[in-house]
Amino acid sequence: MIAPVPLSELTTMRVGGPPAAMVAPVTEQDLVKEALVVWGMDEDWMLLGGGSNTVASDAGFDGIVIRVVTRGVERLDSEAAGAVRLRVQAGEPWDELVAHTVTQGWAGIEALSGIPGSCGAAPVQNIGAYGQELSDSLAAVDFLDYETGEVRRMEAAELRLDYRTSALKQGLRGIVLAIELDLRDTRNEADVLGLALSQPIGYGQLASALGVQLGDRVALETVRSTVLDLRAAKGMVLDPTDPDTYSAGSFFTNPIVTEAFARTLPDAAPRWVLAPELPDRVIPLDEYAGVGPIPGVDDVRPVKLSAAWLIEHSGVRKGFHLPGSRAAVSSKHTLALTNTGGASAAEIAELARFVLGRVQAEFGVNLQPEPVLVGLDL
Ligand SMILES: Cc1cc2nc3c(=O)[nH]c(=O)nc-3n(C[C@H](O)[C@H](O)[C@H](O)COP(=O)(O)OP(=O)(O)OC[C@H]3O[C@@H](n4cnc5c(N)ncnc54)[C@H](O)[C@@H]3O)c2cc1C
Repeated sequence: MIAPVPLSELTTMRVGGPPAAMVAPVTEQDLVKEALVVWGMDEDWMLLGGGSNTVASDAGFDGIVIRVVTRGVERLDSEAAGAVRLRVQAGEPWDELVAHTVTQGWAGIEALSGIPGSCGAAPVQNIGAYGQELSDSLAAVDFLDYETGEVRRMEAAELRLDYRTSALKQGLRGIVLAIELDLRDTRNEADVLGLALSQPIGYGQLASALGVQLGDRVALETVRSTVLDLRAAKGMVLDPTDPDTYSAGSFFTNPIVTEAFARTLPDAAPRWVLAPELPDRVIPLDEYAGVGPIPGVDDVRPVKLSAAWLIEHSGVRKGFHLPGSRAAVSSKHTLALTNTGGASAAEIAELARFVLGRVQAEFGVNLQPEPVLVGLDL
């Protein structure tokens, strides 16, 4: 055990009291060994990587924090031509990995530049941004299973990675010890200037910032620097001098609702139908009276909404804070709740509840928090 440090010092939201105890093993073998000891102690426990998706209560955590700080990147033999397989220790900082792959000319995670946190936490919510997701490149993880105490290899498909979620967020307990990524070696496909190319650009805002069409490929370095610029403008790159980045990133996920519900929202509310168009179908009159959702059609197609739009149009503007509170909506991006300096976890939670209430009252949508809340209820 090491001296416990307050969670406010280990999380990017900068709130949270101390845990009862803490371990921080630096090798994969010691991580396994110490986790098994902790799990045998019948105490509550939690994992902490970079603390960029964790918001802990002012009371701290009455249990043992297992910090994941193991480092190392290894190149494995890849079966496919033009492919690179990497095995990365869980404590390796994600953005350092992205920077390394870009320098090497390996494509697949360049649009995920600037996301804080550790590689081991990346599968937990299947990190994603600017048209790429971890699930596009994750091959497998090595996993220490809490139920069995055994280390096992899990193929990416077993993790059920989806939009900001995975089996790890839905009850599968244990530690991701290392991740394996399949990347594309693009050094032999360089552009006219000899620069290694990215994967096809898959996000409109990134394509316009680059001045290219969706599906085009651009120098890897250019994608990385453009994504970092776009993110910095929204306060989404950690910067100790900018309190807009004292956050957990997006505090709410984009809600997914039925098509029928989406139709109750104002026309201007952005929406993306997630399922393909259904083919035309004849519905007998005795099955449908012509009013309300069409059975088997309207209620099945999921539609993703923009949480940022809903928040802004419920009357909560950038920079908003409750009277006297040091928690504020980011002045650059409505989706991020920030600690403007010295805020308590209670103040962050109060602001989050206010935002939830406004969106629920205005649009009938229940936003879901994206970060992991420790000892906090919204
Ligand atoms: C400024 C900012 C911008 C962000 N932008 C994005 C973005 O664009 N896209 C995005 O998807 N996310 C974004 N995030 C959220 C966050 O960076 C990611 O979720 C990241 O993967 C969290 O990593 P972490 O190591 O900091 O996790 P932590 O906060 O330390 O932990 C998060 C959860 O993962 C669990 N966990 C940690 N390590 C392991 C492990 N080795 N094995 C199993 N479980 C583990 C923890 O128990 C906890 O439940 C942003 C956050 C910030 C602060």
